[in-house]
Amino acid sequence: MIDIIDANNGNQRSFKGENMAIREVRKQGDPVLKKKAKAIEKFNDPLLDQLAEDLFETMYQAPGVGLAAPQIGVSKRILVADCGEEYGGPYVLINPKIVHQEGTQIGIEGCLSFPNLYGDVERAYKVIVKAQNLKGKWFKVEAEKLLSRCFQHEIDHLDGVLFVEKAKNLRELTPDEYRKEREGRESQLAVI
Ligand SMILES: [Zn+2]
Repeated sequence: MIDIIDANNGNQRSFKGENMAIREVRKQGDPVLKKKAKAIEKFNDPLLDQLAEDLFETMYQAPGVGLAAPQIGVSKRILVADCGEEYGGPYVLINPKIVHQEGTQIGIEGCLSFPNLYGDVERAYKVIVKAQNLKGKWFKVEAEKLLSRCFQHEIDHLDGVLFVEKAKNLRELTPDEYRKEREGRESQLAVI
């Protein structure tokens, strides 16, 4: 069961989880990752609900804190994110646009499409994102720190932009090395 909060009105919607499916995460070199994804125009659509459910299921299983549809081979403008309780959510953003950004943050990023690869990426510290929910209603969500980084990384995916194009000091880390880097800088480290 996944409870999704509509950032606009706080209404909660629960996915039953009966038909959820873990989808294959597309990896480096897959052409779908470099395509600009198409806007979603049909809402209140069981297929769209199913796509969101599959994105959540795949993201939680990975595990990651965000996932964009092109990463499961669907070139459409929808992403999901869950950066933990302190950030609210989980979030479903459809046709998202960054309408405001301020400040900068530099942190280590990874990506489910680039297993074991990490790099330092500069991102806006804070963003305001305008997006549609599964019913097509527009809302705005404000995000800072990790959630802001996550939204920026995922919106890049929708435009066919990959973190390796923005990262400095790209390096491969084993799970042990990753855990070591993670210590003490939790809020700055994300696999998205
Ligand atoms: Zn990614």
